[in-house]
Amino acid sequence: MSDVFDAPVVPRVPVAGSADTFPVRRIYCVGRNYVEHAIEMGHTGREAPFFFLKPADAVLPVAAGEEGAMRYPGLTASLHHEIELVAAIGKGGRNIPAAQALAHVWGYAVGLDMTRRDLQNDMKKQGRPWCIAKGFEQSAPIGPITPAQAAPGVLDAPIELLVNGQPRQASRTSRLIWSLAEVIEHLSAAWELAPGDLIFTGTPEGVGAVQPGDRLLGRIEGLSELRLRVTPQE
Ligand code: MN
Repeated sequence: MSDVFDAPVVPRVPVAGSADTFPVRRIYCVGRNYVEHAIEMGHTGREAPFFFLKPADAVLPVAAGEEGAMRYPGLTASLHHEIELVAAIGKGGRNIPAAQALAHVWGYAVGLDMTRRDLQNDMKKQGRPWCIAKGFEQSAPIGPITPAQAAPGVLDAPIELLVNGQPRQASRTSRLIWSLAEVIEHLSAAWELAPGDLIFTGTPEGVGAVQPGDRLLGRIEGLSELRLRVTPQE
């Protein structure tokens, strides 16, 4: 017996300072995990963490020193940037207690949870799933993954996004409502985590729209930066 067509290629993210790559299994995302962003989206900032997923092949890996290119997607007039700290899982498990959670993290990267905000707002209004707003191709641009031991300060570091050189989002990763360890505890109660899982931990305030031609620069101190250009719709 054989496959009826070539098996899909496993998406891979470069590892910082190495020729190695990190194969991606799943992409989990945390909704509204910074107080000021929850408020700007019309919420109180005091709710239990909740999750959504993107398909693994939504990653748009960008190597160190390179600028990625993201096509402006269809069906939207409001493509929003959300800069996020991404945790890359190296050791799986279920029901992982927060106290042990960070031992499951292989490394960290700068990521963008790109969102078709107009579609998300429509789906919210109608009580429908967010998939079409969050899980489309190239919706998860990500920079190189830095091994955890090489990024000791990343859970209390400045996080920022600039568009065409202008600051749009700026905060600290320590301002997460639910810390990464708590996120992993909640997430692993709902799904069995496995090596290759990425967790987008939520975005700070200042989300906004980008246009074709815009250049994005995402930074978290201690990690490899993420550069991205938005290209015209094809
Ligand atoms: Mn997000």
